[in-house]
Amino acid sequence: MALIVQKFGGSSVANRDRIFNVARIVANTHNAGNDVVVVVSAQGDTTDDLIAKAQEITHDPSGREMDMLLCAGEQISIALLCMALGELGCKAISLLGWQAGFITDSSHQKARIRKVDTERLEAELGKNQVVVVAGFQGICRADDLTTLGRGGSDTSAVAIAAAMKADLCQIYTDVEGVYTADPRIVKKAKKLSEIAFDEMLELASLGAQVLNNRSVELAKKYNVKLEVLSSLNPVPGTIVKEVANMEGMMIKGVAKDTNVSSIAVLGVHDQPGIAFKVFSLLAQRKINVDLILQSVGRDGTKDITFTVASTDRRQAVEILTESIGRFGAKKVEYDDDVAKVSVVGAGIQSNANVASTMFEALYESNINIRMISTSEIKISVLIEKKDADKAVNAIHEAFLG
Ligand code: ADP
Ligand code: ASP
Ligand code: MG
Repeated sequence: MALIVQKFGGSSVANRDRIFNVARIVANTHNAGNDVVVVVSAQGDTTDDLIAKAQEITHDPSGREMDMLLCAGEQISIALLCMALGELGCKAISLLGWQAGFITDSSHQKARIRKVDTERLEAELGKNQVVVVAGFQGICRADDLTTLGRGGSDTSAVAIAAAMKADLCQIYTDVEGVYTADPRIVKKAKKLSEIAFDEMLELASLGAQVLNNRSVELAKKYNVKLEVLSSLNPVPGTIVKEVANMEGMMIKGVAKDTNVSSIAVLGVHDQPGIAFKVFSLLAQRKINVDLILQSVGRDGTKDITFTVASTDRRQAVEILTESIGRFGAKKVEYDDDVAKVSVVGAGIQSNANVASTMFEALYESNINIRMISTSEIKISVLIEKKDADKAVNAIHEAFLG
């Protein structure tokens, strides 16, 4: 008998028929003699709808109240799925994040899991039933509800799999696995039968939302066997594991991230310590910075341009504008109409052709590059948002077409 964690995303539980479809998958796995813990997301666009409701009230809701609101989405799904399992004669119990032992830090809306106390999970599983857990949520030391950030149910599932040493963690979604690019953007994208943790981590961090990047990080750390597959089409999916097929292609995929804004701090002093001051201010608020470009100093001043997640842009600009005097900046500007497009694969940096092939593809599509960054396994460019899908297709065609 194996312990299997199965996670179903929002589209997989979007309506009555989809919920029964999920219930059948879960019941079959349980009837085959496995212990099953299920993690579900909120139905369809519920989380977006809840965010929109909050925005109708205020543009600056507190993190605590947002988490209180958003946790309701997953609460609906777990109850409905347990009812459906009951209809199929499969005994099941639903648990909210806190009931399932998810203890997090107190950073509302991007809480990090401190630990999963598995006592209750184990006790409920011991009663020969399926346990259905609300993804994306936990509780902090102050006994307040928290959420893990968008797409966080993947992380919930992997965290349970790691804490309970599950034999397998299956992430069921609305595509058949991990592809060489988002199959909704690139018609010719190919499904990968397997991918290495590091490559998947890059793809996920660079915008391929099929897996949340923190879930991949956790899976790698605790060596959780991870599989991405379709809840609608029972065909083999993609296995994410330590080392994937060594002889596979070097370029693994192309990713797009439109949750990006660029911020420019113009005319800062050209002296030591300025970059430190700028970025430590952002780090104190847990705002992650990505691509960074510093201009050459001229007449004692220089410009620092960088990207942040769009969701952090307002706060970042506010903090920097308040402190403008500390680094002698003249102005803080931002641009939300940008996107980051990246090519991912092992050994990219040691292959001179990759960058030139990528830039040629963009040039031939008449797409202007604003920023570039490279690492051992990726090259990213910042471009105008309107060009993003065209760029993904052009780059995919150049490497994987
Ligand atoms: P869920 O609701 O199941 O969590 P998500 O919408 O978060 O599903 O993630 C699945 C989506 O990820 C797919 O519908 C697809 O459009 C998108 N996606 C982006 N990049 C990729 C990729 N490389 N491979 C597969 N899907 C991708
Ligand atoms: N419901 C949450 C979201 O939409 C969590 C998830 O789907 O993973 O972001
Ligand atoms: Mg998701």
